[in-house]
Amino acid sequence: MDGSAHRNELRTTCAYCGVGCGVLVRPDGKGGLSVRGDPEHPANFGRLCSKGTALGDTLSLDDRLLSPRAFGTDTDWDSALTLVADRFSRSIAEHGPDSVAFYVSGQLLTEDYYVANKLMKGFIGSANIDTNSRLCMASTVAGQKRAFGTDTVPGTYEDLELADLVVLVGSNLAWCHPVLYQRLAAAKAARPAMKVVVVDPRRTATCDLADLHLALAPGSDVALFNRLLSAIHEGGALDPTYLNHVDGFEETLQAAQKQRAEVTGLSAEQLAAFCAMWLRTEKVVTVFSQGVNQSSSGTDKVNAIINCHLATGRIGKPGMGPFSVTGQPNAMGGREVGGLSNALACHLDLEDAGHRALVGDFWKAPAMAEGAGLKAVDLFRQVRAGRIKALWIMCTNPAVSMPDADAVREAIAGCDFVVVSDVTARTDTARLAHVLLPATGWGEKDGTVTNSDRTISRQRAVLPAPGAARPDWAIICDVGRRMGWPEAFDYATPAQIFDEHARLSGLAAATAGRDFDISGLTGLGADGYADLAPTRWPVTKQGSIERFFADGRFFTPQGRARMFPVSARAPVARTGPRYPFVLNTGRIRDQWHTMTRTAKAPRLNQHLGEPFLEIHPQDAQALGIAPASLVAATSPTGRCILRVLITDRVQRGQVFAPMHWTGETAPTGRIDALVPGVVDPLSGQPESKAAVVALAPHDAAWFGFAVSTGTLTPDCSYWARSRVTGGWRAELAGDIATQDWEAEARRLFALPHARCQSVADPATGTARLAFLDPDNHLLAALFVSPTPVTLSRDFLAAQLGQVAGTPLSGRPGADMPDPGPVVCACLGVGLNTIGAAIASGQATTVAQVGECTGAGMTCGSCRPEIAALLAGARQVEAAE
Ligand code: SF4
Repeated sequence: MDGSAHRNELRTTCAYCGVGCGVLVRPDGKGGLSVRGDPEHPANFGRLCSKGTALGDTLSLDDRLLSPRAFGTDTDWDSALTLVADRFSRSIAEHGPDSVAFYVSGQLLTEDYYVANKLMKGFIGSANIDTNSRLCMASTVAGQKRAFGTDTVPGTYEDLELADLVVLVGSNLAWCHPVLYQRLAAAKAARPAMKVVVVDPRRTATCDLADLHLALAPGSDVALFNRLLSAIHEGGALDPTYLNHVDGFEETLQAAQKQRAEVTGLSAEQLAAFCAMWLRTEKVVTVFSQGVNQSSSGTDKVNAIINCHLATGRIGKPGMGPFSVTGQPNAMGGREVGGLSNALACHLDLEDAGHRALVGDFWKAPAMAEGAGLKAVDLFRQVRAGRIKALWIMCTNPAVSMPDADAVREAIAGCDFVVVSDVTARTDTARLAHVLLPATGWGEKDGTVTNSDRTISRQRAVLPAPGAARPDWAIICDVGRRMGWPEAFDYATPAQIFDEHARLSGLAAATAGRDFDISGLTGLGADGYADLAPTRWPVTKQGSIERFFADGRFFTPQGRARMFPVSARAPVARTGPRYPFVLNTGRIRDQWHTMTRTAKAPRLNQHLGEPFLEIHPQDAQALGIAPASLVAATSPTGRCILRVLITDRVQRGQVFAPMHWTGETAPTGRIDALVPGVVDPLSGQPESKAAVVALAPHDAAWFGFAVSTGTLTPDCSYWARSRVTGGWRAELAGDIATQDWEAEARRLFALPHARCQSVADPATGTARLAFLDPDNHLLAALFVSPTPVTLSRDFLAAQLGQVAGTPLSGRPGADMPDPGPVVCACLGVGLNTIGAAIASGQATTVAQVGECTGAGMTCGSCRPEIAALLAGARQVEAAE
């Protein structure tokens, strides 16, 4: 089905990454939603990735928070809101406004974000509101403000397609911004002369598109771009005319020339090849993401990149410019409303007295905060120290996602009064709350989000709010009214909040010269807001502009850009005999953040079903770590146990682990427990990609794999569970092997009386047990072995609820081909199926694999992996 929206379809926006894809949804008649990409949305033109495609699978109410809860008991809204307002007011009265804090989220809609900031910064009188976007792109904000005077993304997504050279720095676009990757891949396929460079210590899926991969040393990006700036100067590629609009060139060049490029660990040939590509190509876009931002020198990295674009005037023109891609669906909206603790709405600065006065007058605020508040890491330190006495966490899970996560979990647990608003009570953070407030989720919310290229899109409610759930903006305003400011928080709809924000933006642009101006969207009214089409800001009454800065006009007091002298600094944590490995953390293709939504979709759990640690083969061998075994990773702040994935995608001395797993899904996989709370001095963004760890084999006495139609409750030293169609699956390992596996399995599955079939071999320590209902349907199965269990996991999971054939074999019969581990999540196409198509000679390209198997033909997120399988097969052939 193509073309524009059909009858019953509603336009809305994906809930996950900062690409901000438009989706068309309609009820599927079974209580859920059918979802497809919106062909008319300028971010995706109909494309969706695996996560977006599965949005409709995440809407079940089985773990939803449906009623307010106070101190463990369900309550009504009036009592809960009064309790929250009273406890915050009492803390402010007794200990001052800085004794309270909000920790909010890039998942909030702009309207939610706006009123939360207004309440804290204008009425409570503190700036102790920070956001999980601090962990995501605060360094970009700081770097862009230093260079441009405002936090401005100069270009658009189209620039990636128009460029002749796209440099991806610290960005695994293929997995983290898949639709943008698809757009880039399509542009390169249409125009093979286009070049792509990937700058990343790891060989990620994105490298399949790269003409050049620069596996630089962790944290050395500044040295690379300083070398480039020197080469730009030496090669005569400066733009003297554009430099008339730029301050700081001479001192920046001098700093760059002093830089030792060797710290990148790249060869002279690699550096020369990169610089030559850059110099000879006018249309260059440099895309950067978490590998740049999540660093103790993140702001300097951003400026090192921007310096090169300013020096060459390659900015703000079609196919040219530095381009930050944000992680969260509304990270940009959060930046627009001043969601960070050092910002004010409409890109105004909290530390500027004139800006404070402007906003204070507009809000008629009784108690404007007088300076920057606590940034995330410091905020939770103050919680731990007992100075924050009332904390409200909205739509985020800091007990997992903050660095030094175990200490943050303890801090929240020790806080006098903790409120959590969320869609579920089953998060590591929500379990610590005194008051739980049920918020509406994707599909029920109504408001706006802004994506990475400044496009504001509507999220529309297509489902009724379940139970007593309410929109975040309404909850916040109710608390504001109860705290004594009824008029300031007297909004009836998100459209009214949007209108106020739009009016303030016009004032900020006119009187303070800010970039963020959506005054052209004031006075939309309810209907205009309801129908608002995706709109890129700025948009004034006079019209809009696509790109910033081609004209050399900036938002600094002088109206000129600023180049900043920067020099490379190594990551703060240093490897040594005690902690010899650098730990890089990041995302995987099919999960989002702490998995509260994506883990509800069985197809998204099939690709990578448990937390893992990538390690180089030689390092694994040196440590005696076997494939698929377990490894204990210890850092100065915590300890994790993870499945080993031996691969040369990581360099020697470096390891990688994903950040998604939690106490709910894999308690020993909480990877941010290993990450220290060290931050960039300017942006306050934590260094999440360069922790140091020690590794050792985790010698479990037994390993297990289990499937069950009911919830599993493991009680062993390692477990990771995920949903499958019709139930759950779990990987298990324990330190003491029992003599009675049937008793253990009955406890695990809560099946005290079900009929059990089993085979056990005490000599080898293996056991296989299947539990059946009276009609012989498989209820649960457990496979145990003293070494990691080998069986066809997807096959066994697919037998749940089916009439049991031979579940204890753990494999399909000879008449049933085993598709193998899932590669294509949309259609469930497995590795063996794809391998067979390649081996048969029928498929020698990604497209042909798609024709033969269907893999990669829907959302396309798995195409890089299919390309890697094809490349692997070619290498084997060449070697034979
Ligand atoms: Fe959603 Fe995927 Fe688009 Fe990101 S790329 S907005 S996760 S569909």
